[in-house]
Amino acid sequence: MKKTEKSAILLIYTGGTIGMKESGHGLVPFDFSQILDEVPELQKFTFKIDSHTFDPLIDSSDVEPGMWKDLARLIKEKYEDYDGFVVLHGTDTMAYSASALSFMLDNLGKPVIFTGSQLPVGSLRTDGKENLVSAIEVASARDARGRAMVPEVAIYFNSQLIRGNRATKVNATSFDAFRSPNCPPLAEAGINIRYNKAVIRYPSQEAPFAIHTALDTRVAILKVHPGITEQVARNVLLGDGIRAVIIETYGSGNAISKPWFTDIIRESAAGGKILLNITQCLAGDVNMNLYATGKALKEAGVVSGGDLTTEGGLAKLFYLMGEYADNEKVKQLLERNLKGEISK
Ligand code: ASP
Repeated sequence: MKKTEKSAILLIYTGGTIGMKESGHGLVPFDFSQILDEVPELQKFTFKIDSHTFDPLIDSSDVEPGMWKDLARLIKEKYEDYDGFVVLHGTDTMAYSASALSFMLDNLGKPVIFTGSQLPVGSLRTDGKENLVSAIEVASARDARGRAMVPEVAIYFNSQLIRGNRATKVNATSFDAFRSPNCPPLAEAGINIRYNKAVIRYPSQEAPFAIHTALDTRVAILKVHPGITEQVARNVLLGDGIRAVIIETYGSGNAISKPWFTDIIRESAAGGKILLNITQCLAGDVNMNLYATGKALKEAGVVSGGDLTTEGGLAKLFYLMGEYADNEKVKQLLERNLKGEISK
């Protein structure tokens, strides 16, 4: 694409607070034309902005992997027609969806920018307008060579653009709702939008854009906590229909050192389950060589999640398990940086 050509953006509306209004029994989504009425600023963009509305529109608490597949297929279908995609999505599960899409969209050469808001776009103090307008600006931005400035799945929220698979929702009420604790923002918006080119990832020139829609969702999440019972640990770590367990550990990846717990971990790993260690801490990473309690997990066959978020880890497992039947292969790839989701 030559840099003189104008951008074309597809706005994909899936639901969420940004497009909700009071119904008398809580907030419910309204249709897209009303968003456009509420944000006349969109008419000031000099390029084409088309929209696609999902049916049904949802509160993102109801999001399911089927919707991620629909999103991936839609982006694939429209890939050549647009220079960037903006996905309007509820904030509650935005970090899960953005993480999932980051793995499902392979060799992405165009921006896929998720955004939403804490207040409906029609309310006076809404954060939705700024988020939407800036997300469109980011999705249409190109560098001096005419390439997309941010060919990644990212979240734009409250003046920051963060990598989708590094994001986590940290505040239920503040406009400053998302963090990317282990990865600097891809861009920050003030008077200008400053792009952090050293962090942004670019696709390889050789491979074409492709999507992966086989997701295996047989994952459980076990958060270790003081007082966790043997029965609870057994039910999750040895449960039927579970192929992988994310163990949310303390600090640098530590869990209970009591023999009953280590025995269950060993039995689970020996039985073929994929066990992934992710820290409960917001920032920092898992290092199972530091403490005896971590070492015991490593020796039992637990894989380090490094500085993965739980959202990123879940999405990575869904994707890898969908792609590979061999659990050893999945374990190997879990420790590899595939889409910028871990730091090493
Ligand atoms: N419950 C809403 C949703 O995630 C919250 C939001 O959009 O901010 O769809």
